[in-house]
Amino acid sequence: MKVWLEEKHSLLEEIEARSGQKVQECYQCSKCSGGCPFSRVMDYAPNSILEMIVYGMKDQLLSSKAIQMCIQCGICGAQCPAGFEMYEVMNVLRAMAKEEGYISHETKIPKMNNIFLGEVKNNGRMHEVNLMVKNMLSQGELVRDVAALIPIGPPMFLKGIMGFGDVLPHKIKGQAAVAKIFENVEKMQGGHA
Ligand code: SF4
Ligand code: SF4
Repeated sequence: MKVWLEEKHSLLEEIEARSGQKVQECYQCSKCSGGCPFSRVMDYAPNSILEMIVYGMKDQLLSSKAIQMCIQCGICGAQCPAGFEMYEVMNVLRAMAKEEGYISHETKIPKMNNIFLGEVKNNGRMHEVNLMVKNMLSQGELVRDVAALIPIGPPMFLKGIMGFGDVLPHKIKGQAAVAKIFENVEKMQGGHA
């Protein structure tokens, strides 16, 4: 009993310290989950994640799909009456899962997230075509994805929404400074991007 209580408190304390969010101050009003674009397909809704932290449910949390699915859009925070930034907690949980070798069944969003961040780090900005091509290659459903693009791509060129200059990635002037920000964040997170 004593060991379980200590583990429960250490999880809560670690997450509060690393995220800067007071998990225990959540009212459990569920507004965050109502606004979250992914809560319907997450295995645990954002407000449930907070409750699970309080109950010390570490294994379920760190192996959950929900922590990998959060895209850090901040909609939950904008709707929270307590000014709680859920994405900070999700970030910490994701980092802890990586540090401790937990495996999630949700792999598509983390892959896309890594490609997105790699694009911003390498070019100083997001390059849509690169992101799309790399993501299609990484997800292993190239034929389906290319087929879905056929009705969209050519009309975008014809209407001038996209030009040949958009196809190849180019770095912005301040790319080195952006890459430095990534390096500093990776150091702060102990080498975990
Ligand atoms: S909206 Fe805020 S207070 Fe309400 S459940 Fe979500 S995090 Fe807690
Ligand atoms: S930041 Fe994450 S948890 Fe919050 S609304 Fe966006 S996807 Fe949902």
